[in-house]
Amino acid sequence: MAKPLVAVVGRPNVGKSTLFNKLIGQRLSIVEDTPGVTRDRIYAECEWRGKEFMLVDTGGIEPRADDVILSQMRRQAQLAIEKADAIILVVELAAGITANDADIATMLQKSGKPVVLCVNKCDRLGDVPPEFYEFYNLGLGDPVPVSSVHGHGTGDLLDAVFEHLDFEKGEEYGDHYIRVAVIGKPNVGKSSLINRIAGEERVIVSNIAGTTRDATDTVIENEHGKYVFIDTAGIRRKSRVEEAIERYSVLRAYMAVDRADVAVIVIDATTGFTEQDSKVAGYAHEQGKACIVAVNKWDAVDKDGSTMKEFQKKLENDFSFMSYVPFLFISALTGQRVEKLYDLIRHVHEKNSMRITTGMLNDMLAYATARVQPPSDKGKRLKIYYMTQASTKPPTFVCFVNRAELFHFSYQRYLENQIRETFQLDGTPIRMIVRERG
Ligand code: GDP
Ligand code: GDP
Repeated sequence: MAKPLVAVVGRPNVGKSTLFNKLIGQRLSIVEDTPGVTRDRIYAECEWRGKEFMLVDTGGIEPRADDVILSQMRRQAQLAIEKADAIILVVELAAGITANDADIATMLQKSGKPVVLCVNKCDRLGDVPPEFYEFYNLGLGDPVPVSSVHGHGTGDLLDAVFEHLDFEKGEEYGDHYIRVAVIGKPNVGKSSLINRIAGEERVIVSNIAGTTRDATDTVIENEHGKYVFIDTAGIRRKSRVEEAIERYSVLRAYMAVDRADVAVIVIDATTGFTEQDSKVAGYAHEQGKACIVAVNKWDAVDKDGSTMKEFQKKLENDFSFMSYVPFLFISALTGQRVEKLYDLIRHVHEKNSMRITTGMLNDMLAYATARVQPPSDKGKRLKIYYMTQASTKPPTFVCFVNRAELFHFSYQRYLENQIRETFQLDGTPIRMIVRERG
């Protein structure tokens, strides 16, 4: 289920982000990188020869620098390297092998991960120049000549990468485990929450038979069921500096969400909702994951009779792009309602995996279209012939219609709400696919 991860590594300015954008098939400039855009440009899905993988741009490493920002970048690169199934090391033809290139190559060799060496800025077509052969000295096998700007050589590069990827890689945990990503900004209380959960329960530290276990996962079995809390390295207290850079924590959240069934988005009740919250929550939503918003530090809020109601109202507005999401007001510090999290996780996971029979869907459809007539335009009325569920996680419905352009967003929204109400589909995004049938 988890797609293979490929990391693009190298020192600054060799052309990593140019290569990254070429590979994901978009040309994006830094100026487009406005805050609040859900999809982060350093992590994206890619397709080659009909197979999908995730690509991450590590942002650049200067192994020899002591600067805080640079050491943050190094930390991010290390995270990507740790998680990656294969690594593309980018170097630059004209520069030859620099000391930093050599250091990075050594670091990558130590990681034991497969590395493909990309010699970028080989812009001239035809035979590669003699300087190219110098790069064999890095000891990383055959270098691949690439021009990221023009796109030359990227196919050969991906072919070389694909030799190291296993697309059949099995699930790390059995189906009996619900995989949960606890995500949110630094300091909202994610580690405290995991500590609280793990402290009270039996935690299995050994590997589950026949599977590999990520060192940063927390596996819990209790009377509520079997859970894996994904990538909760925060269970040990992190230093502030270590989490200082947003880009790093966001990347980490994205990777955790990809592996998860359920995303628990933790926000801090004392500071409220922020832009970064919508970023990680938006990603979980787009990826079709079951979602919960845990409003933590509830103990630290001055309350009267209506505080929770008012809070809830404000949050519903903040999270209006995911109107289905349930809110749970908790305190990792006192343990208030933390126990309820298990049932809620199970609940939204069931909804996310729910199958609705075609018969029931079409009964719903008949009722819904009788109640509110489908829209019409220039004398043509939308007809929805039939509806069926194509897949789960998230529940995805195919609607067969006479004319797709008549199926306006507002009517799709209406039907979506009808589906949610009729089948009590809360806590999960749902998708609608429209197909025309003559
Ligand atoms: P990063 O810091 O490694 O991400 O590097 P960038 O992708 O930002 O590229 C650094 C500079 O190299 C930019 O000016 C790019 O336009 C340029 N560049 C990237 N790839 C190529 C290439 O294949 N050929 C040439 N001539 N320039 C390139
Ligand atoms: P993380 O960075 O999201 O993992 O956040 P931490 O778990 O490290 O918590 C950050 C700070 O918030 C610490 O000082 C915690 O003691 C505090 N904290 C966490 N949960 C709660 C809570 O429920 N109530 C209160 N009052 N403080 C909390």
